[in-house]
Amino acid sequence: MEHSPGIADTALSNPVVETVDVQPVNKQERRELYKKREKIFPKRVSGTFRSLKWGIMAVTLAIYYLAPWIRWDRGPNAPDQAILIDFPARRFYFFFIEIWPQEVYYLTGLLILAALGLFLVTSLAGRVWCGYTCPQTVWTDLFILVERMVEGDRNARMRLDKAHWTVEKFARRVVKHGIWIVIAVATGGAWVFYFADAPTLLPQLFTLQAPAVSYIFIGALTLTTYLLGGLAREQVCTYMCPWPRIQGALLDEESLVVSYRTDRGEPRGAHKKGQSWEGRGDCIDCNQCVAVCPMGIDIRDGLQLECITCALCIDACNSVMDKVGRPRGLITYDTYTNSQRRERGEPARIKLLRPRTIVYGSVIVVVGLIMLATLIQRPTLEANVLRDRNPLFVTLSDGSIRNGYTVKILNKRHETRSYGLTLEGLNDPKIAVVGQQDVGDQARFTVKPDSLGSFRVFVTVPTDAVADSSMPVTFVVTDEDDGTMAANDTSFRGPDR
Ligand code: SF4
Ligand code: SF4
Repeated sequence: MEHSPGIADTALSNPVVETVDVQPVNKQERRELYKKREKIFPKRVSGTFRSLKWGIMAVTLAIYYLAPWIRWDRGPNAPDQAILIDFPARRFYFFFIEIWPQEVYYLTGLLILAALGLFLVTSLAGRVWCGYTCPQTVWTDLFILVERMVEGDRNARMRLDKAHWTVEKFARRVVKHGIWIVIAVATGGAWVFYFADAPTLLPQLFTLQAPAVSYIFIGALTLTTYLLGGLAREQVCTYMCPWPRIQGALLDEESLVVSYRTDRGEPRGAHKKGQSWEGRGDCIDCNQCVAVCPMGIDIRDGLQLECITCALCIDACNSVMDKVGRPRGLITYDTYTNSQRRERGEPARIKLLRPRTIVYGSVIVVVGLIMLATLIQRPTLEANVLRDRNPLFVTLSDGSIRNGYTVKILNKRHETRSYGLTLEGLNDPKIAVVGQQDVGDQARFTVKPDSLGSFRVFVTVPTDAVADSSMPVTFVVTDEDDGTMAANDTSFRGPDR
């Protein structure tokens, strides 16, 4: 690793602030098609944003690991797991919401809402999703925390990495990778609980009685968590994730991004204790902001594709500013327009309401309201009628005309329901149901909880009541308990008149 000019001078001149010898990855030569990875050893930092990240990490991990264990009473014939993707029954349960396969558009709506939410947040405050809540960031942060606990902070880890293999180095590496694997297994293990009843599946997993697919998924997720969170780390964000490329189209000059204030910091350079700050910038070139960066970049070079907006460099620089007695905020959340306003001597301001944020926000509200309305009004009963195509109709011995239909009734309730079937649009129709006797002009069906009932129905009309070769008819299915109705239009076919 090359030595940056000026760093040694800074170390000698400012005993208050530790100076770090670093070479950010964005300053390294990139002549090769694929450059060899430079290892990054993020330094421990404390401050507002670091505390916020710890809090978000704790909440998101707790949600992920504990959510499958939350119970939700849906009655005797339904699973009591609050969040469950039930592939055998083809259902998705989310607390009081139950999505059937034909309602998959709700999931599409949710994905649209999530995408729009991401667009809105990015246009407001850059890649805060990446910096705080992205699973890659959260698990990488967790893995780095373990690494720091086992191998020490930045300098100790760098020394250990360069050191020859000894018993101590081997032992530390075994402990670190061992804990990483335990976390990875727990992560893969938690995932499968979203697809089966968690309290039932857990003992099955330990007694090797769980379905083979559970072990396959645990294995695959254990491997990916270990590789992506433990080994690949920042490379996932830089090379694998498409989001850094997309974000450029979502940011504008009023978006808040982590920025180095050149107007305050430059000219940078070493600063001796007690020396005047006249004629120089506040940056003492200590490189603390680079040392804590999990992406290994120097924010002083401007907004870069690698920056995940985690704001740890803000915490690092604020600590430095406190120590040297300069105001905080040399690195801060700022906008491009504000930097120009300062150059013109105008006060900085944050502009949240802009055309793109208004459009994103409005579309989110509209899509959200549509989804909410359809969720509230979603039917508990659906009926579908398929008319026989071959034969179109049958002429009986007394001259009356008969058509055959398949009636499908979807009972979305968790108890058995009885339904009545009546016809509208035909004169004097007679209904016959396969397996039932003497139905007359109204049929009755019973459908089991949470299932689809299929019935063969024949409708007979006297010949003098068949006015046309095709007459419209409506099948009306009525829930006998609460009067809920579902109607389905079809036709009754007869001979040409
Ligand atoms: S920006 Fe702040 S943390 Fe970074 S080198 Fe300058 S003074 Fe140090
Ligand atoms: S430059 Fe700052 S905000 Fe960007 S990734 Fe590095 S530490 Fe996080």
